[in-house]
Amino acid sequence: MAKILLTGATGYIGSHTWVALKAAGHDVVGVDNFSNSAPEVLNRLAALTGSAPTFENADICDAGALKRIFVRHGVDAVVHFAAFKAVGESAAKPLEYYRNNVGGLVAVCQAMQQHGCRHFVFSSSATVYGEPVFLPYTEAHPLSPMNVYGQTKLMGEQVLRDWAASDAAVRVAFLRYFNPVGAHESGQIGEDPRGVPNNLMPFVAQVAVGRRPHLSIFGNDYETPDGTGVRDYIHVMDLAEGHVAAVDALLGDAGTFTVNLGTGSGQSVLDVVKAYERASGRPIAYQFSPRRPGDLPAYWADASLAKQLLHWEARRGLDTICADSWRWQSLNPQGFEATPA
Ligand code: NAD
Ligand code: UDP
Repeated sequence: MAKILLTGATGYIGSHTWVALKAAGHDVVGVDNFSNSAPEVLNRLAALTGSAPTFENADICDAGALKRIFVRHGVDAVVHFAAFKAVGESAAKPLEYYRNNVGGLVAVCQAMQQHGCRHFVFSSSATVYGEPVFLPYTEAHPLSPMNVYGQTKLMGEQVLRDWAASDAAVRVAFLRYFNPVGAHESGQIGEDPRGVPNNLMPFVAQVAVGRRPHLSIFGNDYETPDGTGVRDYIHVMDLAEGHVAAVDALLGDAGTFTVNLGTGSGQSVLDVVKAYERASGRPIAYQFSPRRPGDLPAYWADASLAKQLLHWEARRGLDTICADSWRWQSLNPQGFEATPA
């Protein structure tokens, strides 16, 4: 059992990872500033884990706050989720993205260095690969992000590689996520985007529950089996369990490693729509729209390295993903704060 600091702990992936780490017997300290999450998440986590969450409301860019947190809690490892993640917004607000995603990361690393904590799990993304040179993407695929958000993730990787090169005690797990979707099977926590969802699954969920009239499918003329975009959708609890495996590996004798966290197969937008209709028993109205600028036609993971190194693989398929998403959405039609978007 170790003490794990989660930054971005009340966010979508952070909250699910919190549950998984507790279930695996770890102690968790959560940090978040609620810039993209709701305090109500903490009540849900208390109910799900059976104990009051240890939580600090702080900004990871605030070195003084980080220092207080490390002194107070004696942290063994950090899982760093806190970041901004909207691709479109990242082009409009690049400086805010670099400050939070790169500057915030550096602040966390400096606090770790000052307090003798050397185990770091980083939320990277498949977006670091960019235009596919080959598919599926392996971890050795060239890195060439196509947007500011992706650049912040690649820079984050570089910061951590340089830190690890300077100090043999530093160990980093670089986790490159594919498309995290779904919700905890209880339906008590899930993805709750502010405003109009940018991503497919929460948009589909909001159409199913009646918050939005229809889905716009961005492009039906791609060179894919049904013409719509193909992605590797991974259940957020599989992803959360991947983090537990990564933490355990780092605290064991694994050195620094980089792995894709995906399922190893791709699904189209229409596959997702049909699976959601089955799970919810409701029709999902959609219309075809022009391609979204910057979207790739198709990509998915080679997930074999994570299986080899971490003995982890995704277990939940698209039907489970949609059933769990629908449980969350139908129990919480307006999300955590019950405020209409
Ligand atoms: P999220 O927005 O739901 O969670 C991020 C959390 O970090 C939020 O609760 C937000 O309030 C918090 N936060 C942001 N800046 C902060 C700061 N300066 N100080 C304290 N807290 C701060 O996002 P998520 O989907 O859970 O993503 C978590 C991580 O995974 C991010 O780093 C993201 O880039 C990465 N990632 C996400 C996806 C995805 O599709 N969701 C894919 C690949 C990688
Ligand atoms: N997509 C869509 N309509 C939407 C949102 C997304 O058709 O309202 C498509 C998008 O073009 C892509 C897939 O769904 O093919 C996944 O998009 P998402 O934004 O969820 O993830 P990402 O583009 O980051 O892989």
